[in-house]
Amino acid sequence: MKKITYFLICVLSLSLSCTKEDVSSNDNSSGNGNGNGSIDTSANQQATGTSANALLSDTEYNQLIIELAYVEGFSPSNAAVENLIAFLTERTFKPNGISVVTQVIPSQENIELTVNDIIAIEDNYRTQYNSEGTIAVWAFFTNGSSANNTENGVVLGTAYRNTSFVIFEETIHGLSDGTFEPNRSVLESTVILHEIGHLLGLTNLGTALQSDHEDQDHPKHCNVETCLMYFSAETGSGIENLIGANSAPELDAQCIADLQANGGK
Ligand SMILES: [Zn+2]
Ligand SMILES: [Zn+2]
Repeated sequence: MKKITYFLICVLSLSLSCTKEDVSSNDNSSGNGNGNGSIDTSANQQATGTSANALLSDTEYNQLIIELAYVEGFSPSNAAVENLIAFLTERTFKPNGISVVTQVIPSQENIELTVNDIIAIEDNYRTQYNSEGTIAVWAFFTNGSSANNTENGVVLGTAYRNTSFVIFEETIHGLSDGTFEPNRSVLESTVILHEIGHLLGLTNLGTALQSDHEDQDHPKHCNVETCLMYFSAETGSGIENLIGANSAPELDAQCIADLQANGGK
């Protein structure tokens, strides 16, 4: 129903929000910030894709910390977290390591969350921000649902800031591990890796195209149907394709080439 502006939400299995804002600096001047004591949070509050190079390369940050926040009962599977770390290890240069910290946050049961709600939750609970040599990512697993869900499709995840994404874990539960449904950790992994792909600047979202493979009908997505960054629209074909699969789709060669040209592996 709602035709969403350019805060584009991709529907069904693969979802994101592609914000278009002019955001420039990714600098971190810690010790001088606002909000969280003396922590400068502003470097982590920029538009999606603007920290692609900082995440991919070790030029500015040689270490990555993922803050995994979840509502009790809605944490991602261990397999999905392992896949996330493996994916980042494969595609980014972080010689000092990739680590995960977790925290449990209060339930959002039966709440429809707008992006502004999700931002407010992050601002309330996030503890990890960029610091000298370390870039931080906020990964939030909620039992609330997306306010952008429609009769034609549901949102499973959204990358809504340069180092932040949300996964609608309860919605994923409702679509996985049943008869004629995909394996839960495969569906989780698919959505998580797709959202991380957006933080890494795919497709044409902060990481420049090296070849012409952006889907004209679904901007900021790859036009290769088997690629992780393919946007499976309202048809539901995205989920159908995962039935029986034992791993998430991989990036195609063109998306990998884009990452490599922007400092990644
Ligand atoms: Zn997407
Ligand atoms: Zn691709």
